[in-house]
Amino acid sequence: MCGIVGYIGPREAAPILLEGLARLEYRGYDSAGIALVTPAGDLFVEKRAGKLSNLRTALLDVTPSAAVGLAHTRWATHGRPNDLNAHPHVDCTGEITVIHNGIIENFKELRDGLRERGHALGSDTDTEALAHLIEEAYEGDIADAVRAALSQAQGAYAVAIMHRAEPGRLVGARLNTPLIVGIGEGENFLASDVSAVLAHTRRVIFLEEGDVADLDADTVTVTGVDGSPRERLVHEVDWSVEAAEKGGFEHFMLKEMHEQPEAIRASIAGRVHDGAIRLDELEPVVEAIQRAERVEFVACGSANYAAAVAAYVFQGWTGLPARWNIGSEFRYSPPPLDEKTLVIAVTQSGETADTLAATRLARERGCPVIAVTNTVGSAITREAAAVLFLQAGPEIAVVATKTFATQVTTLIMLAAAVAKIRDRLAPEQEREIVTALRELPDKARETIALAEPARELARRYVNSRGFMFVGRGVTYPVALEGALKLKEVSYVHAEGYAAGELKHGPISLLDAEVPLVAIATRSSLQEKLISNVMEGRARDARVLAVATVGDEAMGDHADDILWVPDTLEVLSPVLAVIPLQLFAYHMAVVRGTDVDQPRNLAKSVTVE
Ligand code: GLU
Repeated sequence: MCGIVGYIGPREAAPILLEGLARLEYRGYDSAGIALVTPAGDLFVEKRAGKLSNLRTALLDVTPSAAVGLAHTRWATHGRPNDLNAHPHVDCTGEITVIHNGIIENFKELRDGLRERGHALGSDTDTEALAHLIEEAYEGDIADAVRAALSQAQGAYAVAIMHRAEPGRLVGARLNTPLIVGIGEGENFLASDVSAVLAHTRRVIFLEEGDVADLDADTVTVTGVDGSPRERLVHEVDWSVEAAEKGGFEHFMLKEMHEQPEAIRASIAGRVHDGAIRLDELEPVVEAIQRAERVEFVACGSANYAAAVAAYVFQGWTGLPARWNIGSEFRYSPPPLDEKTLVIAVTQSGETADTLAATRLARERGCPVIAVTNTVGSAITREAAAVLFLQAGPEIAVVATKTFATQVTTLIMLAAAVAKIRDRLAPEQEREIVTALRELPDKARETIALAEPARELARRYVNSRGFMFVGRGVTYPVALEGALKLKEVSYVHAEGYAAGELKHGPISLLDAEVPLVAIATRSSLQEKLISNVMEGRARDARVLAVATVGDEAMGDHADDILWVPDTLEVLSPVLAVIPLQLFAYHMAVVRGTDVDQPRNLAKSVTVE
């Protein structure tokens, strides 16, 4: 995810663009860049790794006067966050500039083809391919060339493009990633969201999937990628800047929960092809995977629960003993480690101190390490032999939501890939997993809609003294994560247990004021779980269940139910966690806590 701003009109473009970028920095900020076309038709490009302030410093005293330009704040997905990979990207002729938010999934094929046809690619990004494709298609009309280039691109994009020879034009396009047009008086804007243009206009076109917008200072023409005309309404928005950053949602946490379908889709993108799972990133560790004798996961917090799901699945699919370890424990009392121990480190930020230290220790002992992180260029990527990025986009709320869902999704793909490398994955099983993965983003969307009653349930349960979350097998870690979410955001005490453990102690806590939250989705262990729940119900505990749509019999076992669609059992945690996140969120709202920055917590725990 990144921020895009474009300006065309009579005023100085650079200050408007930089001010717009400052509004968008929340979307990602590992590098920033600007391109301007001067009235004389010269193209000026400046880009810098690091915060926007680095770009501002580089621009001092050198910024030319220009009335058209585009600017970008990057959150890397392909290629390290350095000056070279920062946007804008330029074609071979130095005439076309492109900024992009999203992922061009077929970037490898496109880049290979471009190289074969003689193009010199200067960066490692997927984005740069677009600049050269537009160059190939250019015959004097930049909007036509953009349409021709985009018809070859797969994936997700919001783009803004200029051609040096057409200084009166700015072109934008979107597919699966947001882009808006701001309509001013004799000036127009492109931006990732409304917050970047609010200082100038409240009149906005929300571009829709596949739209290409052709702007000059006075007009905006929208077509499809095929050139067919499209009518778009101009909306008058009354949002504050803060509301605009949150896309109209009340909190970043709520926005990020709603982003889960897209985040999951991005995690899967480029990793499943023709019914097969392909993780090219594992190339450096293929041999190590073949000779591995055990798997040790290491992670902290929510990432640790995602790892716990993965440990269950790894044992089932790969035949390797697999354990999940808390980072801070692992580093001081590590399990036996050697070159036959595959260590998988999971950290959203890639900077979690305990996970990093554990990873270093594992590496020193000769273990092959795979990192699973959301942050390109983070410390963990330098420690690991192979890295899988979540592609979830930046998460602003302190509590993990979309990164948990994408960690589980990515780790399940990793489990399948490892099983495949070890010749333990039958082709039919692989096809079944791929089908389920492809359906997962839509099912996540459906889950969010089905979870609407969580708001009302939060009100109903708000006076509970505490909560007991239970699951079995892969839903046990979901119980842990559900309890953690509730603790983190609403400050209500909650415990997560493997349901079979209830009678070994925690059942004594249950009464009419301590409900059971049962993750009772359809699974091989569902009946066993229901028996455990009955034991709690007999002690007067109310039961709030997460259950599979169509499993109507669950109504006999629970007081309230949050429904989720059916999916493969191993992927059920990705869906089952969503109503629990929403329940925790609404509890927090009812209790009036600081949802996005709960007390005592930090997003990235870089201290021991
Ligand atoms: N995939 C592009 C890159 O890595 C764009 C990332 C973004 O959305 O910022 O440069």
